[in-house]
Amino acid sequence: MEGLVGRRAVVMGGSISGMLSARVLSDFFDDVIIIEADDPSYVKSVRKRIPQGQHSHVLLQAGQQVLDRLFPNFINELIEDGSVVADFTNDLEWFHFGKWKKRFESGIMGVQQTRPFLEWHIQRRLRDYSNIRIQNNSLVIGLLLSDDQRTILGVKVRTPNSSGESDIQCDFVVDATGYGSQSRKWMPDAASQSPLEAVKIDLFYATQFYQTDSSKLGWKNLMISAQLPDQPYAGVILSFEDNKFGVTLGGYLKQPPKTDEEFRLIAKALPQQHIYEFLLNAKPISDLNTYRIPLQVRNRFDRSKSMPSHLVVLGDAYCRFDPLYGQGMSVAALEAELLGAELRNMKDREELNTFHNRFYKKLVKLTQGPWDMAITESFRHPNINGRRPRDVKLMQWLTQKIYRASANQQDVYLTLAQVMNLTESSTAFFRPAILPKLFVRVRNTDG
Ligand SMILES: Cc1cc2nc3c(=O)[nH]c(=O)nc-3n(C[C@H](O)[C@H](O)[C@H](O)COP(=O)(O)OP(=O)(O)OC[C@H]3O[C@@H](n4cnc5c(N)ncnc54)[C@H](O)[C@@H]3O)c2cc1C
Repeated sequence: MEGLVGRRAVVMGGSISGMLSARVLSDFFDDVIIIEADDPSYVKSVRKRIPQGQHSHVLLQAGQQVLDRLFPNFINELIEDGSVVADFTNDLEWFHFGKWKKRFESGIMGVQQTRPFLEWHIQRRLRDYSNIRIQNNSLVIGLLLSDDQRTILGVKVRTPNSSGESDIQCDFVVDATGYGSQSRKWMPDAASQSPLEAVKIDLFYATQFYQTDSSKLGWKNLMISAQLPDQPYAGVILSFEDNKFGVTLGGYLKQPPKTDEEFRLIAKALPQQHIYEFLLNAKPISDLNTYRIPLQVRNRFDRSKSMPSHLVVLGDAYCRFDPLYGQGMSVAALEAELLGAELRNMKDREELNTFHNRFYKKLVKLTQGPWDMAITESFRHPNINGRRPRDVKLMQWLTQKIYRASANQQDVYLTLAQVMNLTESSTAFFRPAILPKLFVRVRNTDG
């Protein structure tokens, strides 16, 4: 749509999804207010309400590309400030489905930085937009609904340091409050009962940061993937700014380690000893932090005819992925960009009354690939519960072929790297140049 869609938009939550949505909305609304419960954090350190900031975060190619489109030169700024640049296939030593992958230069260059470092950089660029305001220390406690309960008219906000509660009226609301989102509870009854897809992965995450002499490693990143059901643990080492290495261990349907010793024992239980040996030789520079991810969840608002208008739910509030695939921030970026594209497609302001229906349908399509990638692997475990797609066995047979062939077939690995980075759809594996290679017998290269 040419020109402005409305006077004011409110974004609930000021993390990755909220900030990127606000950036997009600033092109369409006079005034964009981010309501964020946390303190203002103009430092590159973990925020109270983002406990996952203590864990390594991967930013996929698709996410990098969106950030550069929304904030030109953003990735160069990260690099200038110290982000580590790594070639996905060349700088990663990866043990996956019983094989070490053969490394080669792919040109898929990732920037690696800790989560607070990335968030700080986005915050900094957001300050260039004079029509975006961040209201910190303010908790959204409800939605303002029209009398017929069909339209969201604004939000109710509690500001602990001042005099209680206030209403903020607006033309459009984005819920970007993350996994703990309360929107469902605040919606009218029929909408709050819209379907939900849930896969009970019961995954623990345990991360500790280290420093070491990196000159002897021969890699920037190292990963030992889980292979369910027999191998429920995964481990990854990623290099970040200031010569920091984040070591993360994850386990499906397993208890997290409580001590450094238990952390090391889990590393020892992995099918290869590289992470265990790294831990013996490196110096810890942080505490051990753990986090539990009980569910992978996606709201199917597209299946409800009763969703209130003038509101969309994005980011982890809409869909929470298995974090071991590193998709959440990049998908949130793609969702923000989709929001902009759909607002631009509107013919007139009246379309805001039905916008959400069309948007939720597109959101399902956008998230389908990353969602399928993770749940296909989860469902290899008989005790991981959720609605198994009918073709899951076929998908698992095919992905096993892909994973094994990618160990020493360059173009299969390149395609896998592109699909994992969300720059290609999984249909790329069906290209005539790739498909036959999935069925070539490969030599065992276990190290
Ligand atoms: C352990 C772990 C590891 C992860 N690793 C990766 C990774 O490697 N790569 C990746 O891309 N993603 C990863 N993720 C996912 C990633 O953290 C999220 O997808 C990403 O932060 C986007 O989330 P969000 O912005 O939707 O919500 P969040 O980041 O959870 O932020 C929600 C925001 O809303 C605010 N808020 C909440 N409620 C209210 C309220 N009522 N009023 C006002 N403000 C409110 C919070 O203070 C917070 O700032 C990981 C997640 C976890 C848990």
